[in-house]
Amino acid sequence: MNKAPVGILGGTFDPIHNGHLRLAMELATELKLEQVRLIPNGRPPHRDQPVATPGQRAKWIRVATANEPLLRLDDRELMRKGASYTVDTLASLRAELPDTPLCLIMGRDVFAKLPSWHEWTRLFDYAHIVLIERPDLTSEYAAQATQALEDRRVDEAQALHQSLGGHIYCYAPPPLAISASRIRQLLSTGESPRYLLPAAILDDIMDAKVYRSYDEP
Ligand code: ATP
Repeated sequence: MNKAPVGILGGTFDPIHNGHLRLAMELATELKLEQVRLIPNGRPPHRDQPVATPGQRAKWIRVATANEPLLRLDDRELMRKGASYTVDTLASLRAELPDTPLCLIMGRDVFAKLPSWHEWTRLFDYAHIVLIERPDLTSEYAAQATQALEDRRVDEAQALHQSLGGHIYCYAPPPLAISASRIRQLLSTGESPRYLLPAAILDDIMDAKVYRSYDEP
């Protein structure tokens, strides 16, 4: 009998916001996960480097999840030198949690480009993918991503409890059109992103003047 699955929400979290937090909560309860780990990237190989430091991004996740036992920071990618490859992260989680199904959570924007990831097909050796519809983003899937979806899709969340990995489950959470890029953009032009992210984190961002003189590419 497997344990309840652990969800893995990777990202830049530059900064963490209520879109991430609410998504993690919806998934934890809806899919009956034991917990969701929020894993900030060290050096993401596929995108611009984050504006906030690794220490700031980790601290904000810790603060945002402090009172919620279903959510927790996992800083293993920040501790690793070099590029953060998800396949390496999943291998290290699998070594620690040999009997726990792992559910790698990703927005459709991320899934669309999955075949460009380092050793992407090996992800399924370690984990399921939970594919999240996002109202604010539409992306065409790469052909191999469409094929993987056809081959691996399951319609019942229970299937995620019955094997350690290998399936894709699609989930459409109640939409929250919040993104870190919008928050950075508001801050860079002196506008307020209040209520898009936890107040304590916004206060810290304002104190440290993060994102103030930043141009969104
Ligand atoms: P950016 O705007 O800088 O691209 P982001 O807000 O999309 O950032 P990331 O840290 O890149 O945040 O996202 C981590 C994961 O959370 C990704 O899989 C992303 O699709 C998902 N995510 C982010 N915001 C939301 C949201 N509002 N609703 C659902 N999923 C989200």
